[in-house]
Amino acid sequence: MKKRAGIFCLLLVVLLVGVAAVQAQPAPITAIKAGRLIDPETGTAATNQVILIEGEKIKAVGPNLAIPAGAVVIDLSKLTVLPGLVDAHTHMAMTYKEQPENNYYYLTYVMESTPLRAIQAASNGIQLLNSGFTVVRDVGNNALYADAALRQAIEQGWLPGPTVIPSGPMIGSTGGQFWPTPEMYKYHNIMFPEYIDANSPDEIVRAIRENMLFGAKTIKLCIDCKPWGYSVEDIKLAISEAAKGDCKVEGHVQTAEGAQRAIDAGIHMIAHGNALTPEQHRQMALKGIFLNGTDTPFMPYRGSEDAFKRTVANLRDAWEKKVPLTFSTDLDYWNERMKNEKTGEWLTRGDLTIAFLETWKAADIPPADILRAMTINGYKAADIIKERGPIKPGFYADLIAVAGDPLTNIDALRDVQFVMKNGMVFKKDGVMTPEKFFHPGPVRAPSGRWTR
Ligand SMILES: [Zn+2]
Repeated sequence: MKKRAGIFCLLLVVLLVGVAAVQAQPAPITAIKAGRLIDPETGTAATNQVILIEGEKIKAVGPNLAIPAGAVVIDLSKLTVLPGLVDAHTHMAMTYKEQPENNYYYLTYVMESTPLRAIQAASNGIQLLNSGFTVVRDVGNNALYADAALRQAIEQGWLPGPTVIPSGPMIGSTGGQFWPTPEMYKYHNIMFPEYIDANSPDEIVRAIRENMLFGAKTIKLCIDCKPWGYSVEDIKLAISEAAKGDCKVEGHVQTAEGAQRAIDAGIHMIAHGNALTPEQHRQMALKGIFLNGTDTPFMPYRGSEDAFKRTVANLRDAWEKKVPLTFSTDLDYWNERMKNEKTGEWLTRGDLTIAFLETWKAADIPPADILRAMTINGYKAADIIKERGPIKPGFYADLIAVAGDPLTNIDALRDVQFVMKNGMVFKKDGVMTPEKFFHPGPVRAPSGRWTR
C-alpha cells in the first residue's frame, strides 16, 4: 500500500508541474486596428479603435490603447469592424432538392443518412462563417442530432464553424409536420428522428429531457402543425421543463390561433411571421417575444411575387410595432438556379443567407435596425449575449470586417473581408485562412457545466 501511495504522490507532483507549465504559458495577444468600429446596440460607429484580444477573449477596446510588445497586429484600419452576424433560424443538416425529391423533404429524410447530413451541415457552417455568420440557431430537421454533433465538434476544435445553438428534433403532437401512412407511422416509426411525438404532459417532459440530454441548447415545439396542437398549458409546461436545462422555447406557428396560444403562454420566440396579425405583433412587442420571421426574398431560385409582398408587409408591420426582430432564413433547400447571375458561379450557403437582406430592404427598415436584428437581437434570441456577441472586454472575440459602412448601406455586409472566431483568424483580405481551426483531437474543452 505504501509503495502505491508513493507512486500516487509522484504522479500527483508530475501532474501539478505539468499544470503549472501549461499555466505559465501566456495566451497570445492580438491587437486589431479598426478604422471604424460599429456598436449595433446604439447604431453608432467610433473611428480608429484598438481591440486587444488575449487568447479567445476580448481584453480591452479603446481609441488609444498601448499595444503590448510581441502582440500580433492585424491592420483593419481601412475597414469597418462589427460583431459577427446571426441567422436565428436555419437548418444546416437538411437540404431538399428539385432532383430527385421534387422539393419533398420526406424523401430527403429517407434517402440521406444522418452522417451525410452532418457532413453537409459542417460544410454549410464553414460557408456561413465565411459570410460573417458567427452564430446560428439550428432548429430541427437535423436527422439524429446532427446539429448537436456539429456544435460539439466545432466547440471541441475539430473544425471551424459558427457557434451552433441546436434544438435537436422538433417536438410535436402526433404526426409533427408529416402526414405519414399508417404502416410507416405504426410499424416503421417514420416520425423519428425528424420529429418527436409528444402528446401528454408526461411525453412533453420526456421529449424535452431527451433533447437536452442529447445536446439541445434550445427547444422547438410544433405549436399548431396539426389541429390537435399544443394548448397554453402544454406550452407553459414545456417552458418550465426546458428552463431546468437552461433552454428557451421556440414555437413554430402557422395559424393565428396557434400563435395566440404561444403568446399567451409567454414563449421566448415565434418562428414564421406569416400567420401573425397586427394585434399579435403588438402583444409580442409588449411581452418581448422574439420573432424569427423567416422572411424569404423573391429570387430567381425561390419564392413568388405575391408571397414576397405579404412577407414584406408582415415584416414591416412587426418592425413598426417594435417586435424584437431577428434575421432568420429557414434555409433548407437547394436548386440548380442558385448561381451568381453575372459570373455563373454557384452561390454559397453564406451568399444565399445574406440575400435575405432583400426582404428587409423592401420593408424599408433602416440599416441600423437591420444590423441590430442580425446581431444584438440574435444573441439575445440565442441566449448567448452574456458571453458572446458584443465587442466588449470579457466576451469571446468573434468579429468581422467589411469594406463599406453597413450603417448607411446594409449591402456592405455582402462583402465580408475579415472574420475572427474565438480569437482565431478565419478569413483575411477576403480569403479563408482556416488552418488554425483544424485539429486531430478535442483540443478545446466544452464550455459550461454541460459535457455536450
Ligand atoms: Zn424552420
